[in-house]
Amino acid sequence: MSDNGHAGCAHAHGHIRLTPARQLVLDKLCAARRPVGAYDMIDIVADATGKRPAPVSIYRALDFLLENGLVHRLASRNAYMACAHRHARSAPVAFLICDQCGCVTEATSPAVETSLEQLAAASGFRAQTRVIELTGVCRACADAPETL
Ligand SMILES: [Zn+2]
Ligand SMILES: [Zn+2]
Repeated sequence: MSDNGHAGCAHAHGHIRLTPARQLVLDKLCAARRPVGAYDMIDIVADATGKRPAPVSIYRALDFLLENGLVHRLASRNAYMACAHRHARSAPVAFLICDQCGCVTEATSPAVETSLEQLAAASGFRAQTRVIELTGVCRACADAPETL
């Protein structure tokens, strides 16, 4: 697996300085282009470095990336995905998850952001995370002829 195979990944580093371990986890998440669970990430890092990391170090790295808006967590998959957009950290994101091929697309929408803000404000609720997960069938799978 190439380490620089994520040229198209527009994760918003900004001024955040990453330790080599965190950078590696982020690079691998970008390269994966799909949600990766923490235990899969342990295997990926072990493959890349030849040394098996402690699970806690992977969880810490993922938490750090999550807190800094570089990755998102998909609760339904218990997995992490590199942020594909340069959106504001507080912006809500929607994940379109295909049940057939497993592809996940990240989308943002100002209209959704406004609606969610109003929804939370109406309840006096201060949202910490704003992640919407939609499951279904992606365009490619919907267009594919049904040959099994
Ligand atoms: Zn994102
Ligand atoms: Zn699909």
